[in-house]
Amino acid sequence: MNSKTGKVVIIGAGTVGSTFAYALQIRGVIGEIVLIDMDKKLAEGQAMDLSHGVFFTEPVNIHAGDYEDCGGADIVVICAGAKQKPGQSRMELVATNVEICRQIVEKIVEHTSESILLVVANPVDVLTYAALRFSKLPREQVIGSGTVLDSARFRYLLSRHCLLDSRNIHAYVLGEHGDSEVPAWSIATHGGMNILDYCKMCSRGCSPSDHAEISKEVRESAYHIIEAKGATNFAVGLALVRITTAIIRNENSVLTVSTLLDGQYGISGVCLSVPVILNSDGVGRYICPELSGDEVGQLKASAVAIRIVQQQVGL
Ligand code: NAD
Repeated sequence: MNSKTGKVVIIGAGTVGSTFAYALQIRGVIGEIVLIDMDKKLAEGQAMDLSHGVFFTEPVNIHAGDYEDCGGADIVVICAGAKQKPGQSRMELVATNVEICRQIVEKIVEHTSESILLVVANPVDVLTYAALRFSKLPREQVIGSGTVLDSARFRYLLSRHCLLDSRNIHAYVLGEHGDSEVPAWSIATHGGMNILDYCKMCSRGCSPSDHAEISKEVRESAYHIIEAKGATNFAVGLALVRITTAIIRNENSVLTVSTLLDGQYGISGVCLSVPVILNSDGVGRYICPELSGDEVGQLKASAVAIRIVQQQVGL
């Protein structure tokens, strides 16, 4: 018997899509998970493999499907697309993945206008904007995974560096999920204390160069992982579970998903990540904490970097 009602459709059953499905299955908050891929055999194989694990998890109906299965979905997640090769930037994938995004979104909206669209394929900010344009859905309903993963990496590195439980750290990466991202040091807190004040009383005696090193490591993590194993999948799978859960359970969680800005920090007409309240309607309120002047400048530069790529592909 399956008493849970939430339905998530995952388009792209490759490394990221299947890892997300697995993490979602283990989390046990969803009643139905549908996998769609242009490689139907792959989607069927993944669904069968996952289904054989249902005995060990909460009951969940996992199956391969087609676009008509998007009807009634709470969330449709787009994980389909070319992925980065070692050394390649996310932005270099853009032309191929915008076209894939167009084909997929046109098919999704034939079957649903209610679901939240969650874009994961890269470059995620440009593709979120593309999905918004192609779907013509309200902006609250179209989001990208943005810098939720980068913010988790930031917290992990701070936790390791400062010897502090990451659950006691609040820290966000803003802007592009990519090379121009902005770790927002000015609003990071340890146990409720601004991190810059915390550093003054901490015996580890960190210097600005330690901060710069952590920022660099956050930004370059994906390159290192892709160099080592060809893809990133586990942490992003968990980040997607976090976003999905916030939506399905109407959690009003503050997460840095990518969303269309409309004047926040003086930025409009691009999707990028700032802290927003996420619930079952998608993006609720934007939270715009006061940043340092330097960080606002970096955020604007990030928006420019995204807008240039958008214009290059005619968006
Ligand atoms: P993958 O190659 O393992 O899987 C991609 C899947 O998409 C394949 O199974 C392929 O058949 C399918 N696909 C391609 N075109 C399709 C179409 N038109 N319709 C349906 N299915 C189609 O790649 P991956 O490692 O799973 O990565 C997927 C995407 O996610 C990449 O763009 C990657 O850069 C991105 N990614 C994003 C994040 C993030 O934080 N946003 C993190 C990791 C990866």
